[in-house]
Amino acid sequence: MVIHWFRRDLRLIDNTALSAAFKTGLPVQPIFIFDSNILSKLRLKDDRRVTFIYKTLMGIDAQLRQRGGLLRIYHGTPTEVYEKLFREFQITAIFCNEDYEPYARERDKIIAAFCKKESAEFVAVKDHVVFAPHEVLKDDGTPYNVFTPYSRRWLTRFEENLPDFDITMSLRQLFTSADHSNPSLAEIGFEENTFVPPAAEVNEALIQNYEATRDLPALAGTSRLGLHLRFGTVSIRRLAREAHRLSPKFLAELIWREFYQMIIWYYPQTTMKPFREKYEKLKFPGSEGDFKKWTRAETGYPLVDAGMRELVETGFMHNRVRMVVASFLTKHLLCDWRWGEHFFAQHLLDFELASNIGGWQWSAGIGVDAAPYFRIFNPSEQQKKFDPQNEYINRWLGSNHFFGTEIEPMIEHKFARERCLQFFSQVK
Ligand code: FAD
Repeated sequence: MVIHWFRRDLRLIDNTALSAAFKTGLPVQPIFIFDSNILSKLRLKDDRRVTFIYKTLMGIDAQLRQRGGLLRIYHGTPTEVYEKLFREFQITAIFCNEDYEPYARERDKIIAAFCKKESAEFVAVKDHVVFAPHEVLKDDGTPYNVFTPYSRRWLTRFEENLPDFDITMSLRQLFTSADHSNPSLAEIGFEENTFVPPAAEVNEALIQNYEATRDLPALAGTSRLGLHLRFGTVSIRRLAREAHRLSPKFLAELIWREFYQMIIWYYPQTTMKPFREKYEKLKFPGSEGDFKKWTRAETGYPLVDAGMRELVETGFMHNRVRMVVASFLTKHLLCDWRWGEHFFAQHLLDFELASNIGGWQWSAGIGVDAAPYFRIFNPSEQQKKFDPQNEYINRWLGSNHFFGTEIEPMIEHKFARERCLQFFSQVK
């Protein structure tokens, strides 16, 4: 038999590695591993993402059972799990979809070496992106460091050969065996979170209007597909085809996603260090006390505080507000961008390492094709421009916010701006 190893591709339709596994003609056993190396870093017992993954897997298992198979779910490190599986079954190959993050690359290298020792094949194919990192490069074969030329080349390649997607569920031969008792959420150390995930559907009208609505946090004007793209519950090929038909602006956002996947592949050190090396020597002096105020939505800037509440209460924050709160933490409070990045990583439903690192370094002015350090968002002006009726603010801070209950701004904008310019001028 062959294994299909689900990771960030939790769907049965238009799944490249799964289709490749079926093409071998051998019985396919799909599996998922709750990787203890990853789970041990999650602090919240009722982590929304773990619930989302778990429920999605239950749905996949039910569909496989209707067709005479089942999903085997394990809890442990991938090495432990594969040692057990290879003892139990005659496995000739493991199929999976590529993952470009540093931890995943290391993990896959270890499992590929293990397969070799067992005389089995390890097959990893592209699925998470339209173009893998090495498929959109400059003429001289080096990676782009600027988004616009990258996106032009991406688009040319895309239009030359629109990606196909398969809308049928072609589960050919599933491996049939004795039942397998999958662990419960509690058995892997988590509790169920009762949140309702956004729909995994492309809303055509929304995407057609995207350019007009995308910057207004009070509206439901963005797709909310981040979570589904992260865990593969929608197909990027299908979404990119729809985006191409409906909205160039929306397609551009999907290209940003791939730009950051490319950056993390070629520059894995950026998960810890600024892309622009000259900023490495900057030691952000911001205090832990100030950071705590930011996390608790106590900055006194309504747009920042509303965003932080939205994040902690729902696991989502609107992109415009992400930019404002990230700029505030790094440029007004001069706190280390990595503190903010970790906080987002803990809470964001759509947390995607490459995009989160990209977004934080962009906001702090130290990243690839980043906002320059002297572009310092004024949170009050941003509020006037993007939430003119205070709808978003009232939703998260309560409508009596403007009647005497508001907190004093923790730092004056003009002062913070001057201080930030001076701080960054150390490395000009
Ligand atoms: P839409 O506006 O509907 O966009 C559709 C999809 O395009 C998104 O789901 C996402 O996959 C992609 N996308 C959109 N904007 C960007 C962008 N700037 N960079 C990369 N991909 C993008 N996005 C994440 O997916 N995960 C993160 O962890 C993440 N962290 C961020 C941190 C900061 C500080 C900032 C400024 C941005 C971050 N983003 C992140 C990018 C963006 O804010 C989210 O993708 C977007 O808000 C998700 O909402 P949506 O699905 O409604 O997006």
